[in-house]
Amino acid sequence: MIGFFGGSFDPVHYGHLKIARAIKKELKLDKLFLMPCKSPVHKNTLYFSNEQRIKMLNLALIEFNDLQIDTREIDRQGESYTIDTLKHIKIDFPNKNIFLIIGEDNFNILESWKGYQQFSDYAQLVVLPRTSSAQKINTGIDVYFANTPLINISSTQIRDILSNISSIGKIDKIGKQQNVSGLLPKNIIKYIQKL
Ligand code: ATP
Repeated sequence: MIGFFGGSFDPVHYGHLKIARAIKKELKLDKLFLMPCKSPVHKNTLYFSNEQRIKMLNLALIEFNDLQIDTREIDRQGESYTIDTLKHIKIDFPNKNIFLIIGEDNFNILESWKGYQQFSDYAQLVVLPRTSSAQKINTGIDVYFANTPLINISSTQIRDILSNISSIGKIDKIGKQQNVSGLLPKNIIKYIQKL
């Protein structure tokens, strides 16, 4: 049994990492792959490049060495739709049970994803809660709602802090509220500060 946790990871943070570890345990997966997307269909722009996001994921795996990375969406030419990715994964792992793991916010817009009705032909969809009022909306496809804890961290929050820091040029004098420490691994913070 293997899981694929897709996202922009722009940048990866403890919300992703701790929840990935928790869902791997909950589902008793042999492997859990963090799968960064290239040009997110549902987002306009990315803050970090493909290479930087992959580098940060690799840095994260020093601490979270029970997780793995799958860069197929970035490596592939052209658009990367989840349904196409699932077809490729099924070809690569014909004898494995495959789990596609997404957060509640993405689940809420699932009907805008190309070919979502076919997801269950290739994988079991797993939804991670992000709010205490997570809605089990009826999408017509089989969904497993995870029992993972809520971790209130987002990449948006981190990017907002980082933009603030660079615009005022106060990396060392930032106030408590603007500090990214504790939101993502220290080695990634160091990496970002050197960019
Ligand atoms: P952004 O703030 O840019 O939207 P994000 O923090 O939601 O980013 P993504 O890279 O878009 O991160 O997330 C990848 C997947 O992980 C998505 O399915 C998202 O819902 C889920 N996810 C992100 N953060 C959390 C979290 N704290 N808890 C549970 N799931 C999360």
